[in-house]
Amino acid sequence: MRRAVRDLLRKDAPGSHQYAERESYVPSPKITFLIDHPKLTCQICQDTTLKLSSSSDDDDDTPQPGDFDYDESEDRTPAILPCAHVACTACMSAWLKEHDGCPFCREVHKHDRCQHPVGYRQLTHAAIASLPATKPEGGRVAPDCDRCSARARERRARDKMAGLADRYVRAREEAEMRPESGEAQDAHRRAKKAFERCGLDVGYEEVMAEHTAW
Ligand SMILES: [Zn+2]
Ligand SMILES: [Zn+2]
Ligand SMILES: [Zn+2]
Repeated sequence: MRRAVRDLLRKDAPGSHQYAERESYVPSPKITFLIDHPKLTCQICQDTTLKLSSSSDDDDDTPQPGDFDYDESEDRTPAILPCAHVACTACMSAWLKEHDGCPFCREVHKHDRCQHPVGYRQLTHAAIASLPATKPEGGRVAPDCDRCSARARERRARDKMAGLADRYVRAREEAEMRPESGEAQDAHRRAKKAFERCGLDVGYEEVMAEHTAW
C-alpha cells in the first residue's frame, strides 16, 4: 500500500494527472453513493472498489474505527476530504501521514483558527447522513478542529454554568427572603430552570457543529 502511494507521488508530477478525475472527485457524495451508484475505483491503489461500507447489521465483522483490532491500513472504506476527493481509507491515511495536502489536488486543508489539519471523513451508511457539504458544493471548514472546539465548548459551558449557578443562588435567597413576592418566586423558578437546562443547550450546539462543517 505504501508503494502505491509512493508510485502516485512519482507519477503525479505537477501538470501530469495519471488518475481518473471522475473516479476520485465526488462533490455530492450523498447523491453519488446513495442514488447514482457509479462503479468507482480508488485511484491510488487502483484496486479497491469505492462503495459505502456495510452497516453494522450486515454480517461483516471487519474491525471498525474505535475497535481495538482496527487497522486503518486495511480499511477499504471510502474516505473523503473537503475538496471532494475520495480514495480508500488505507491509501488516504497512508498519504496523509506523509503529506499535508490532498493526494489529487494538493489543497492543504487546515482549520483557520487552530491551524490543525482537517482529517478525512469516512463514507459509511452510518456517517453519510451527517456529512457536511463538500467545498465545491458550498461547504465550509470550521475555524477549529473537533478537539479544539470541544475544549472551547467545555470552557464556555463551564463559564455559562457558573453564571447561571450564581443567578440561581441569588434568586433563591431573594425568594426565601420575600416569600410573599410573586415576582421573586417567578424569578427563582426561571433561574432554576435555566440552570438545569444549561447542559442541554451545550449538547445541541455540539451536534450542530459536527453536522454543518468539516
Ligand atoms: Zn486505495
Ligand atoms: Zn483534493
Ligand atoms: Zn485544533
